[in-house]
Amino acid sequence: MGIPLDNSGPTMKDYASPNQCTWCDGCGDYGIWTALKEALVELKIPPTRVLLCYDVGCHGNMSDKLKGYRFHGLHGRVLPFAAGAKIANMALPVMAVGGDGASFSEGVGHLVHAVRSNYPVTFILHNNANYGLTTGQASSLTKRGEKMNTSPNGIPERTLSSMDFVFSLEPTFVARGFSGNIWQLKEILKAAITHRGFGFVDVLQACPSYNHFATHDYLLEKCYDCWKEGHDPSDFKKARKLAVDTSRRIATGVLYQNKDVPNFYEELLPRQGKATTLVNEVALQDVSELMKDFA
Ligand code: SF4
Repeated sequence: MGIPLDNSGPTMKDYASPNQCTWCDGCGDYGIWTALKEALVELKIPPTRVLLCYDVGCHGNMSDKLKGYRFHGLHGRVLPFAAGAKIANMALPVMAVGGDGASFSEGVGHLVHAVRSNYPVTFILHNNANYGLTTGQASSLTKRGEKMNTSPNGIPERTLSSMDFVFSLEPTFVARGFSGNIWQLKEILKAAITHRGFGFVDVLQACPSYNHFATHDYLLEKCYDCWKEGHDPSDFKKARKLAVDTSRRIATGVLYQNKDVPNFYEELLPRQGKATTLVNEVALQDVSELMKDFA
């Protein structure tokens, strides 16, 4: 089941919310917020035909800063409810949005199973390499040795190699974007939303309040568009190397995509050949006979 297209197509105004953004000046959330709306508009998906699920974090405050069906859940738990919603209603694109703090700590188990199950969900990782909402504690992705608010002597632990970890799970779609390159991020998100299975999109974002090691200027200098350099996203080994090796430059774009692997729903034998989706079937059930027992 593909993405439902509305021929008239929405505009950016259709996604506009009257609520004021409260992110800090220069926060990368603004770029991601803009790219997401632009991607949905260009795919002609109106706000009433998409579900946007948010984890807890600075990014989660986006949940009432745009129109559309939105769900704001518990810390680290965005993926299970996004997957459940998608399986129930395959007609709607479902996007899950989370931060690096939640996704690579208490939510990491959900990430593992989302990738290995190949849920037909797009996951946007707001990667600012710290817990910004709670004022700058170290996450698993904070650079080792960095002095953060609750570790004034520097982080003793090694930084988790998040991309190597994701590639170890045999993903079907991995991309990396940068909040300062809105045009490219929009194109990445369009590719992820139209991907058949789980689309993992790591977005490196500036957090000028608490991340003083991977700043906007640092990312601007190091990130480059691997699409423009002819990267072949079907080559798993090369994609993994490109994703992991960020010592000199940071590759952005769709790093890896395998379009041939069926998604979780397509693998469910009881769903094969069904023209309806689960929410339709629930709506069509006549429970009047059952209800007589409670009369
Ligand atoms: Fe953005 Fe960081 Fe401020 Fe959060 S703390 S709103 S991530 S700049």
